[in-house]
Amino acid sequence: MFNIDNITRKNIRELTPYSSAREEFSGQATILLDANENPYDTELNRYPDPFQQELKNAIAQLKNINSNQLFIGNGSDEAIDLLFRAFCEPNNSKAFIFPPTYGMYEVSAQINDIEIVRLPLGPDFQLPDLETIKDEIKSTGLLFICSPNNPTGTVYGLEQIKAIADCFYGLVVVDEAYIDFSDSESALSLLDSTPNLVVLQTMSKAYGLAGLRLGIAAASKEIIQVLNKIKPPYNVNTLSQTKGLEAIKNRSTVQEQIKKIKDQREALSTGLQSIKGVKKVYPSQANFILAEFENAVSVFKELQNKGIIIRNRTSLIKDGLRITVGTPQQNETLIDTLKNITP
Ligand SMILES: *Cc1c(COP(=O)(O)O)cnc(C)c1O
Repeated sequence: MFNIDNITRKNIRELTPYSSAREEFSGQATILLDANENPYDTELNRYPDPFQQELKNAIAQLKNINSNQLFIGNGSDEAIDLLFRAFCEPNNSKAFIFPPTYGMYEVSAQINDIEIVRLPLGPDFQLPDLETIKDEIKSTGLLFICSPNNPTGTVYGLEQIKAIADCFYGLVVVDEAYIDFSDSESALSLLDSTPNLVVLQTMSKAYGLAGLRLGIAAASKEIIQVLNKIKPPYNVNTLSQTKGLEAIKNRSTVQEQIKKIKDQREALSTGLQSIKGVKKVYPSQANFILAEFENAVSVFKELQNKGIIIRNRTSLIKDGLRITVGTPQQNETLIDTLKNITP
């Protein structure tokens, strides 16, 4: 049986967390002389809510989960780092990844001195068959499934994710940074039946708020309690909390943009397929498209010279370039430019 105490590092289990001034009081205060703030109103002279309760309530309602199942970080990257620090121990736990995938898992594992085990994706970037990895993943640590996967745009079925989680002794982290662009169901629906699951989402992509740095981790309340215990007390600033809440309340704008981006994903895919130097365009459930080019690196550089920046992924995927879906105008310019620089 999965028990959170068994996988929490001893030093974290035994930690008495820093208790911030704002944590220890709740209710109506009229005079705040507890936190050495400047008493004159600048709109930001007060420390932020350490647990972002209002923002969490809004997200919880939207996602149909309990707010005590939510952690909000300074970007998803903060959540990833805290998961390593709480639930991995050097020389003991491992970080399992399915490359080609998002680079931060590996970087964060290295920073935390955790061994990385790479289990490459199969044909069409599908997850390897459970039978072939079952024995290898009998370990503690973190196992990352990025769905839709960056940089391939592939989504993975919930049954497959659940089956992997049931074989793993550590935490399975499903990174859903691009879920709002996909037609698939979120792994949030597995939370109740999967105690070792963490689902990451972010306001950096579909919500158009990459500059705010708001990452979301959803998990059991026991896992969230551990993350709360070790996070920097004021990890999400006041402006981010306010703007994040505003964006959730005005969600219709975001929904319209998502629809446009999904339509443009099709247009861009069609455009790319019409270009002679493009060998393959992969289907995508995200807001980017992976394509294989002849002379990929020189195409990448020529675009760069013309002021168009795309992502060179040739180190991960042979001849692979990743293109973010832009506005209709941007996509058209890209396609026209490609027509001129490819044979
Ligand atoms: C962009 C991205 C994120 C978002 O990270 P933030 O720190 O929340 O901006 C997370 N995971 C993947 C796979 C991404 O591509």
